[in-house]
Amino acid sequence: MIRTFYTPPENFIDDERVVIKGEEAHHALRVLRLRVRDIVRIVDGMGNAFIGKIARITPPDSLTVDIQERADSTDPKAEIALMVAVPRPQRMDFLIEKAVEIGVHSIFPIIYERSPRILEGKVTRWRRIAISAMKQCGRARLPEIHKPMQLHAAIEHFADYDGRYMADLLDGKPLLGYNLRRKAVIAVGPEGGFTDTEIEMLDNWKFHRFILGRRILRVETAAIVALTIFLNGLGEL
Ligand code: SAH
Repeated sequence: MIRTFYTPPENFIDDERVVIKGEEAHHALRVLRLRVRDIVRIVDGMGNAFIGKIARITPPDSLTVDIQERADSTDPKAEIALMVAVPRPQRMDFLIEKAVEIGVHSIFPIIYERSPRILEGKVTRWRRIAISAMKQCGRARLPEIHKPMQLHAAIEHFADYDGRYMADLLDGKPLLGYNLRRKAVIAVGPEGGFTDTEIEMLDNWKFHRFILGRRILRVETAAIVALTIFLNGLGEL
């Protein structure tokens, strides 16, 4: 099995050579014990994937790869962003991993009025989880994981989005009842639900309500189910 490594665009020396550094290199050398001439797959987090051969190892944690050819990746073409309440730490880890696997484009953790206090320090951890999920599922584009922010700040990012949708238990229609847009955002509220002010803000921004069924889902379940239905609806799962 060819292993995948993530290395950002700035680590590309030219079209033919790339350096893998830090944790990724450590993993390649210490854990997997890769050697010169071993074949690896490289992804740059921007949607590009390559197959290459290890040309040089510079201890303790750097290796140079000669790029041989472009490789396939599994990124969806649709750009589906998620604005989502932050559930408890383990559940958020799960949410990040699954959302990346399913094909999310970016994640905006939202501090809603009814959100419990959250730890901002988690972003680094979430990004690490996203990198590992990206590699595992064959993607080459790393979804952006933003720092937690308030709804009014996040919502500004979606002014030019073609589709805006909010998961709401009240009088919504099913997602598949909409003509789903390929550049869209899905908002999922906190366990305590949206406040009236938040609903008003989402309404002003023309978020369409959708319902995921009769049962009340937890934040992470609602986010994962909504993303799945959406990407499947677009033929991009
Ligand atoms: N007590 C809250 C439930 C919150 S569940 C309330 O009455 O609103 C957390 C979030 O998940 C909700 O804000 C909503 O965005 C989403 N969600 C959960 N189950 C859902 C369903 N069946 N349909 C649509 N959205 C749902």
